[in-house]
Amino acid sequence: MKIVFASGNAGKLKEAKEIFAGHEIISIKDLCKNFAPEEKGDTFFQNAVIKAEEAMKIVKNTAVLSDDSGLIVEALDGAPGVYSSRYGGVEGDNALNRRKLLHELDGVEDRSAYFSCTAVLLFPDMSAVVGVGKCSGKIGYHEIGDGGFGYDPLFIPEGFEKTMAQLQPGEKNLISHRGRAFRSVMEKIRCL
Ligand code: IMP
Repeated sequence: MKIVFASGNAGKLKEAKEIFAGHEIISIKDLCKNFAPEEKGDTFFQNAVIKAEEAMKIVKNTAVLSDDSGLIVEALDGAPGVYSSRYGGVEGDNALNRRKLLHELDGVEDRSAYFSCTAVLLFPDMSAVVGVGKCSGKIGYHEIGDGGFGYDPLFIPEGFEKTMAQLQPGEKNLISHRGRAFRSVMEKIRCL
């Protein structure tokens, strides 16, 4: 299936291509350089729907896949949550986001956290399939590893003694929130 991925995030696009191997994944940025819908929802689901619907206005006759995701830290009452990509104050500045997270957790012992992802596959007739995925773990004390993106160098998945940024790409997709959400979408479309 040909699918337009409604995100300008290069890290997410790379993972979407790996997870949806066998499908043709095209970036919305290749069709519309300025694609940047305002993510004004209060939930991952609302923001994923906003992105998918905005992308559908552009592509019209192709399926659209969107993803909204973020990091939920228990000791910070769920922050950064839906604000994960602009936690440090500048949209998409991953280094700033990680620095702020370490600062907020300075002296905090409970470092439990999880990533959550909501994926929406929207078809031209406006029917949709939704998948949700979660990956639990904890926040480390400093950045380690150069794989992945975003908070990966700080996030140690449950059952591992290394950060998400130290995992091989295939390894991350097997356990990640995005891998789980996208695979859930794929299973549902297989049943259609
Ligand atoms: P959005 O879904 O585009 O609003 O942004 C999600 C933000 O959450 C990203 O910019 C990252 O900061 C963070 N995030 C989401 N998924 C991951 C991941 O797999 N690894 C690390 N950070 C992530």
